[in-house]
Amino acid sequence: MSENYDRYLGMDRPITRRDFLNGAAVVIGGALFARTTLGEGGPGIAPSNQANDYPPALTGLRGSHPGSFETAHSLRDGTFWKTASAPADTKEVYDLVVVGAGISGLSAAHFFRERVGKSSRILLLENHDDFGGHAKRNEFHLGGKLQLCNGGTLLIDSPTPYSPQADGLLKKLGIDPPKLEETTADRRLYPALGLKPALFLDRETFGSDKLLVGVPGGGRGRRREEEQGKTWKEFLADAPLTGAVRGDIARIEESQTDYMPGLSSAEKKARLSKMTYRDFLLNVAKANPGVIPFYQTRTHGEWGVGIDAEPALDCWAIGLPGFQGMHLEPGAAPNMSYSAAGYANGGSYRYHFPDGNASIARLLVRDLIPAAIPGLSVEDIVSARADYSKLDEPDSLIRLRLNSTVVAARNLDKPTEAQEVEVTYARGKDLFKVHAKSCVLACWNMMIPFLCPELPEKQKEALHYLVKVPLVYASVGLRNWTAFQRLGIQSVRAPGSYWDAVSLNAAIHIGDYHSPKSPDEPILLHLSRTPCRPGLPAREQHKAGRTELLVTSFEDFERKTRDQLARILGPGGFEPAEDIQAITINRWPHGYGYEYNPLFDPNWPEAERPNVIGRRKFGRISIANTDSGATAYTDVAIDQAYRAVQELVAI
Ligand SMILES: Cc1cc2nc3c(=O)[nH]c(=O)nc-3n(C[C@H](O)[C@H](O)[C@H](O)COP(=O)(O)OP(=O)(O)OC[C@H]3O[C@@H](n4cnc5c(N)ncnc54)[C@H](O)[C@@H]3O)c2cc1C
Repeated sequence: MSENYDRYLGMDRPITRRDFLNGAAVVIGGALFARTTLGEGGPGIAPSNQANDYPPALTGLRGSHPGSFETAHSLRDGTFWKTASAPADTKEVYDLVVVGAGISGLSAAHFFRERVGKSSRILLLENHDDFGGHAKRNEFHLGGKLQLCNGGTLLIDSPTPYSPQADGLLKKLGIDPPKLEETTADRRLYPALGLKPALFLDRETFGSDKLLVGVPGGGRGRRREEEQGKTWKEFLADAPLTGAVRGDIARIEESQTDYMPGLSSAEKKARLSKMTYRDFLLNVAKANPGVIPFYQTRTHGEWGVGIDAEPALDCWAIGLPGFQGMHLEPGAAPNMSYSAAGYANGGSYRYHFPDGNASIARLLVRDLIPAAIPGLSVEDIVSARADYSKLDEPDSLIRLRLNSTVVAARNLDKPTEAQEVEVTYARGKDLFKVHAKSCVLACWNMMIPFLCPELPEKQKEALHYLVKVPLVYASVGLRNWTAFQRLGIQSVRAPGSYWDAVSLNAAIHIGDYHSPKSPDEPILLHLSRTPCRPGLPAREQHKAGRTELLVTSFEDFERKTRDQLARILGPGGFEPAEDIQAITINRWPHGYGYEYNPLFDPNWPEAERPNVIGRRKFGRISIANTDSGATAYTDVAIDQAYRAVQELVAI
């Protein structure tokens, strides 16, 4: 792109960001470690965070931020132990060490203390500079006012109702999702201002840039918030699509055709489970191939791959169009993915905190280490400021140590006889070891064979099977949202663009936290992308997407963000250089836990599933994390933590 265009976009503007490239950032990450490990108290007992460290407010490249993953990658590449120094013994002994301070690790600490007693000594080790795992908080102060967005996990919402353990934990934390939804979510604000869902067709994919406002409500999608009003024909009248393609999209969206007459609902579902949604559109609905780019990314948010890799039946379950006339009975059928089957049966309650499920992580941390986060209620957690210097206090029974990548977890005897576990972790170039009676690995599956090379080969193979789904979310601070008001839009789906979706932050008023109400006020935008490589099997698509994320510099993310916002919002008077105040890129190369895909994965009996083999207890080490549940939901993270703790308590 030209220098002039870069200037128009505002690439030279001094917004809050850390616009260094990956390589340079690693050096800066190293400097951070040097500071923390040389702090008071000598090796191993140095505080993991200083009083003025406040990770939620950092902008720039977050998620798997520079400095968080290099040790793990070196372990994977077999280079780590070649240069590692001997670990310093911290002499710390715990009842439990938890690896990973995501929702699963935090829940494991909670359940363990509940079962074993209030005097339990627990250490949580986490490789990132913040706790919560994917449940991360992005905090901004725009125009002097606190504004929050989810850096990862968006909301309480699962294909199945929360289990007694997961629901029980929410209740203990004071979270009542239906009540919070009713009392704090402001669903009227944007419609009252006349703002509607929109669609942006980009010139690279569709020939010219076009914003179409007011997506019609022709389908029955679970998550569709379209307005009733325009027909699809009217809506697409100005779309840069041929007449044939426009006609076929309208036909699919408003279809009343039974494409499989004479078959029962069960027989139709069986057929639909064996073809992709792409093939359904082309071969069953006989649509013009020109409709494919229009629908290609519709499954990205749910599964991280496009319609070339998702079964048509699963797409029916999440509300994609084309099935309205097929008389499919409600409910799950054999050969569906976990999410599709669950949502076909109704799903769970839903609630979105302003910082997503980071509020759950923060409530758990407050429950475990009360000194670290002030307050008493679910309402006051939202605006409470965490004191990161209190997370790892020597006199606290429960300690949470950040910037600490576990590199080994070892039973100190044969697994069947071990009484103790030794856990080694790295902070920068320094290695430390701690001891514990037991250990929960609440980290990612693919990491575990490197931490426990003694595991049976079959278990290591199973742990490697699951490939996490890469995603990237951006939180963008704007000085106002008058362009959205002028264009009459609230959210934009952009099927061919870099970011799949752009939306104004959800309006919520909880405790003393209040979302902006006037378009003249600053606001946050949420953008999402799921990188993948259409045409490959799902797990290969995820690997390609992960590589893409790791080689994209912050500068590239920023330019793509500014360019896309300028093109969508420019006709509404948006000035990217002036209007963009801050950008945070939440990069998750290892995002959603992998969910089996009926088109690519064998239909194993339960006991032979890789996640079930992979999560087998190994001596005094048990395994949690959503990966152990082969899906990606907060309730599963909690359920797997509960199971892992039960296994240890049973010893
Ligand atoms: C972008 C995104 C959006 C999502 N949205 C939703 C949603 O709306 N609703 C929902 O229910 N779920 C959502 N999820 C799924 C989410 O993964 C789960 O809900 C849940 O937060 C997972 O918790 P976890 O503790 O199992 O794993 P994680 O959150 O991944 O936590 C594991 C932690 O272990 C750390 N770790 C790994 N290896 C080591 C090591 N060697 N040493 C120390 N630490 C280590 C990791 O860095 C990580 O911080 C989303 C996920 C992503 C990525």
